[in-house]
Amino acid sequence: MNIEFYKHSLGDDEKRKVLECLDGLFLTTGSYVAEFEQEFARYLELPFCVGLTSCTAALHLSLLALGIGTGDEVITTPLTFIATATAILHTGACPVFIDVDPDTGLLDPEQIAQAVTERTKAIIPVHLYGHMCDMKALSDRAQHHNLAIIEDAAHCLEGGRDGIRPGQVSDLACFSFYATKNITSGEGGAVVCRNREMAERVRLLRQHGISKEAADRYSGPYQHWDMITLGWKYNMDNIQAALLLPQLPKIETRWLRRRERFDYYLDKLKSIPGIKMPRLGPAVKHGYHLLTIWVEPTRRDDILAELGARGVGVAVNYRAIHLLTYFRQRFGFVPGSFPHAEKIGHSTISLPFYADIAFEEIDRVVSILQEICSV
Ligand SMILES: *Cc1c(COP(=O)(O)O)cnc(C)c1O
Repeated sequence: MNIEFYKHSLGDDEKRKVLECLDGLFLTTGSYVAEFEQEFARYLELPFCVGLTSCTAALHLSLLALGIGTGDEVITTPLTFIATATAILHTGACPVFIDVDPDTGLLDPEQIAQAVTERTKAIIPVHLYGHMCDMKALSDRAQHHNLAIIEDAAHCLEGGRDGIRPGQVSDLACFSFYATKNITSGEGGAVVCRNREMAERVRLLRQHGISKEAADRYSGPYQHWDMITLGWKYNMDNIQAALLLPQLPKIETRWLRRRERFDYYLDKLKSIPGIKMPRLGPAVKHGYHLLTIWVEPTRRDDILAELGARGVGVAVNYRAIHLLTYFRQRFGFVPGSFPHAEKIGHSTISLPFYADIAFEEIDRVVSILQEICSV
């Protein structure tokens, strides 16, 4: 019996809402998206949300909304999904990696000062696995150097730290509704922010820089539209929003289910020698997105293969991205450029983890892991 790495929790509520949407006239960006944006912003206690097609799009448009482009530099972590860095490259700006804290895997605020140049415009922290970065320290540093902050909060919808939630002390925060994220529409994303003008810029850029969205153009008598800037095609559609809407009231109950399962895993994993877990910062509300263990780098790939062979779904979040071919070739990175991120990248294994995983399945994963690690 296989244990999947991830299983979504979509059910009758979501099916009903999508059918309701399909029975209506409007499939693209319309009233469902508007309602989703309002409710998502309400959940995060922020005034503005713009629905998009992905977190990659959210990061890209956040950078553009801040006016970042060719010749600029943006500081980020190499221990992330490639989209954090490719979004920077898409604007013409240059990602500047700094190493991570070896105990948490999070971007280390202490390393910012030495990476700042006169071209640096922003920092993109990544709340890895659901563990929020020290946003107080980051916003102090950002203010000191006059930098914007864009949060890659793809793992951290529910998380917080020192009472701060995503989007509350940054310029913009970006979310993903990709197939394996905590709430999902298969593909999807959103930006949240506190500044109306910033939200309006993202809204304009998500749909070709056209002054009126399809729903505005269609309602009432025919109106000509204009294109006032060069934009992209990143608008969330009503079908995606219909899938997401019924999940919003369930965010906290699903978070509680994941917390129970996370604690259960932690308790069982303690007995296996050679397994480390990322250390949790103080006053952190974990988002519980990924259950990640760190093993001996020399054994990691064998353990991965063996887990897979025994029917346990696994993932690697992430190998340090500066050592991927494209970044090596373009920027000349070599092993040793960011040793902490590299070491974690060679150690990390994500285990099956989601709101509906059965405790017996966790028992099975742990006992298989115990067998593998004891040889
Ligand atoms: C999933 C993910 C992304 C990309 O999200 P998409 O919606 O697939 O574009 C970006 N950053 C992190 C940390 C992610 O986990």
